[in-house]
Amino acid sequence: MHRIGPLFIIEGPNQSKVPYSRSLYVNCSEKVLIDTGADPQELLDLDHEHGVELIINTHYHPDHTLHNHLFKDTVKLINPKEYDSSRTIEGVARLNGVYQEWGEKGVKLWMKTLPEEWSKNLGEISGAYQYDTEYVFGDIKVHFLHTPGHTSGFSCPYFPDLGVTFVGDYDMTTFGPWYNGSDGSIEDFIISGKRLLELDCETYITGHQKGIFTKQEFKQAMNKFLAVIERRDQIIERYVLQGMNFNELTSIGIFYPAHMLDGQILKTWERSGIRKHLKRLGYTVSETTQELMKTK
Ligand SMILES: [Zn+2]
Repeated sequence: MHRIGPLFIIEGPNQSKVPYSRSLYVNCSEKVLIDTGADPQELLDLDHEHGVELIINTHYHPDHTLHNHLFKDTVKLINPKEYDSSRTIEGVARLNGVYQEWGEKGVKLWMKTLPEEWSKNLGEISGAYQYDTEYVFGDIKVHFLHTPGHTSGFSCPYFPDLGVTFVGDYDMTTFGPWYNGSDGSIEDFIISGKRLLELDCETYITGHQKGIFTKQEFKQAMNKFLAVIERRDQIIERYVLQGMNFNELTSIGIFYPAHMLDGQILKTWERSGIRKHLKRLGYTVSETTQELMKTK
């Protein structure tokens, strides 16, 4: 386990790739676990050895709330923006774009595919923390920065005295930024990414894959990461100008490989993501016929 002073970095299987994520543990007189997507046995061992008195979720996504249910009697808090909207599966279906893309019927279908723990992981969350307010755990200061874009409520725990920020889904992977829920925003994602670079912070810990970045590395990685957005813009624009309609555009695999788009949730996110780019580019394309309108 990697440690930075009082912070323990707990890995998920397979380099904390989705459906897992990295957890951060604050080991001081108060024992705080941030996100629960790490290896379940490691989390249980940590609980056994040091205890977990409070769980903080950066946002509602299942890879970050994955093992909340292992800590039945522990108080669990989430960001204030998502507290009401994410505690039910219906609420999550809306945030994920399932309702937007497929309506009531699609939501019912999707709900049947979900693991039982999901509703526990979200349903047991009993309150919210405040954004951009100083909390002190033991003698460790932390601010939960509101960094919307990935989701509208997404937060990044920032430890000003340690010069560390836990940046979760600013994961710097080659996949690029993820803003594909109906609550995601490309513009906010870019603004929040830039805000993270302005922090007085030397170490950035991501929620997936590589993990620990110096400020310099994070800055370079952020430029590449955000550039994926422009690349997606260009690809989508090229296809639109070739005359593709929405159904065609959302079948070729802009975000996800085409062969994976048979799965309902990936198809949902592909559609929702492409809608955001079309809006940003100022194009309206028809669902099935080849009409193109430029609205900007
Ligand atoms: Zn996420």
